Amino acid sequence: MQNTVTPTHCPYCALQCGMNLTPAADGTVGVSERADFPVNRGALCGKGRTAPAVLSAAVRLTSPLVRSADGTLVPASWTEALDRVADGLARTRDAHGADAVGVFGGGGLTNEKAYALGKFARVVLGTSQIDYNGRFCMSSAAAAGGRAFGLDRGLPFPLEDVPRTGCVILVGSNPAETMPPALRYFTELKENGGTLIVVDPRRTRTAEQADLHLAPRPGTDLALALGLLHLVVAEGRTDEEYIRERTTGWEETRAAAMAHWPEHVERITGVSVPQLREAVRLFCAPEAAMVLTARGPEQQAKGTDTVGAWINLCLATGRAGRPLSGYGCLTGQGNGQGGREHGQKADQLPGYRKLTDPAARAHVAGVWGVDPDSLPGPGRSAYELLDALGTDIRSLLLMGSNPVVSAPRAAHVEERIRALDFLAVCDVVLSETAALADVVLPVTQWAEETGTTTNLEGRVLLRRRAVRPPDGVRSDLEVLHELAARLGRGTVAEKGFPTDPEEVFEELRRASAGGPADYSGITYRRLAEENGVFWPCPAPQAAEGADGAGVHPGTPRLFLDRFATEDGRARFAPVAHRPIAEEPDEEYPVLLTTGRVVAQYQSGAQTRRVDELNAAAPGPFVELHPRLAQRLGVADGDPVAVVSRRGRAVAPGRITTAIRPDTVFMPFHWPGEGRANTLTNPALDPTSRMPEFKACAVRVEAVRP
Ligand code: SF4
Repeated sequence: MQNTVTPTHCPYCALQCGMNLTPAADGTVGVSERADFPVNRGALCGKGRTAPAVLSAAVRLTSPLVRSADGTLVPASWTEALDRVADGLARTRDAHGADAVGVFGGGGLTNEKAYALGKFARVVLGTSQIDYNGRFCMSSAAAAGGRAFGLDRGLPFPLEDVPRTGCVILVGSNPAETMPPALRYFTELKENGGTLIVVDPRRTRTAEQADLHLAPRPGTDLALALGLLHLVVAEGRTDEEYIRERTTGWEETRAAAMAHWPEHVERITGVSVPQLREAVRLFCAPEAAMVLTARGPEQQAKGTDTVGAWINLCLATGRAGRPLSGYGCLTGQGNGQGGREHGQKADQLPGYRKLTDPAARAHVAGVWGVDPDSLPGPGRSAYELLDALGTDIRSLLLMGSNPVVSAPRAAHVEERIRALDFLAVCDVVLSETAALADVVLPVTQWAEETGTTTNLEGRVLLRRRAVRPPDGVRSDLEVLHELAARLGRGTVAEKGFPTDPEEVFEELRRASAGGPADYSGITYRRLAEENGVFWPCPAPQAAEGADGAGVHPGTPRLFLDRFATEDGRARFAPVAHRPIAEEPDEEYPVLLTTGRVVAQYQSGAQTRRVDELNAAAPGPFVELHPRLAQRLGVADGDPVAVVSRRGRAVAPGRITTAIRPDTVFMPFHWPGEGRANTLTNPALDPTSRMPEFKACAVRVEAVRP
């Protein structure tokens, strides 16, 4: 394998950029352009370019760690560490029941790992208490998409369609920082004569490139979408034939929108009526248009309805399920899409099947060789699971997540984790959460193992192993295999957890067959030969419309003939504006919104280990408007305290007119004093159970020496 070039994919975000990796004799790994992969066409951001640094980071774990009698973590053999994990989980199960054992996964895990983890929880542990950090990423878009279209796939079309449409409204998304190679799709859109509208409370680097930037008050984008729909109706811009033939529920939605007068919407959002009119004009003028959302509208306690309001706008104007038109969600995490399709979400079984559906339970139980009645029902959502640690849930197995930094109300979550009877963490470094564990298992990472991921377009990809893992680490699949053998009752547990990812994928194919996210026609061989395959992709014998060669081509574009609802029609959602869960008041008069910076990724567990990235983004900051800074008497770079009902964070102030005067912004990548999630509000969306990361009330104070 040495000195060979391996085409593979980046470990970080949902774009899953293609790259070539070349191991060198000195142990370093070179990254080079992989121009054949169409999504990024060779371009990489700094995170992707420097990703190999994490493979050989000095802080890389290469031995299991166990908590010793004096409370410190000390190296141990794999046998001892695995025995302790099995013992810790079994003790809880025996003493308090299966649901007292929790499992928490991650949106960065490959499809194979996500599948195996869900199966492990339900078959070996018998617990319903499994969820993952992807809940914090895209669950509102998934819920709204499922409600409207009968199926959720991040983008129902490939990114290559974006430059060819007429107008894109990008809501609460900042690809210039989160996925820079994707920015070229919007640049090309403009070069082709299309228009870009960006909705964001901040004038981000993405917003700077927009033809029109709307900067609503955080948490009011639902009202903004309703105001636009109101104008669409008032100006006679609806597509009546499309509404009649391809949708249901319009009259109720129309009535809800008509109650949101533009002047009223201006008062709620701060976006002027002329700007609203201009947005409608730009969106409705071309033949085709798209709305793309990301975490801005989704990470709200009304995220499902907010996304639903943007989908309504698409449906009313006939811009969904037609060529170059549609609604899509720009998923965030590397395998945020696949991670939710194959069973680590609290309410789902592989193939995007519902855990409450008897036929789905019977199918998956058949593949797993267990009684359908033995499968537990849906469990708690991610924040609710974390909130129950130390009380209802007494032991936790955690894989690929760092909630001490990334969960809302993080100080409380940290306290709950500390209250556990037993915590086992699988990770590549000693993350802030792993540091609290009773046992830490050091595992392989992206370039050291093969597996599949599914990018934001629904394109299933093969991420190939390019280097030999360091001595002392094992893959997550090996960990589950070993734990199943120790904890299992019978051969299903012992034999049902292969360590070879392709073998796991073969089983996943069978489990997903016939489900909404059908992977049964996808094989490792196809993925190696083709540049990814879009699901649904049924196996030939099940494939309606399979081509002459008997191989289903995959489905790059969804809904062109019909939506995935029972009657084939998309459903409007009659939603109404409501305030955020925690409006500013006298004590907490400012709004906080959070997000990412280009040089760090999520909780920073990996990227904070890379010198080049740390030099570019060394720590947290508080972005504030000059008027607010003047009121506080702080200069650029002065320490600023941000206080919410949940805690206090301190970081240097960064003064800029790019943010609204009533709002401050903090990136959430860092632990400690500047941890943004100390402040955030865990108020949950009633449908998606998404916490309200994007808006909470805070007080901002100067920090005097
Ligand atoms: Fe990796 Fe995302 Fe950067 Fe591409 S944009 S190199 S996938 S982090």
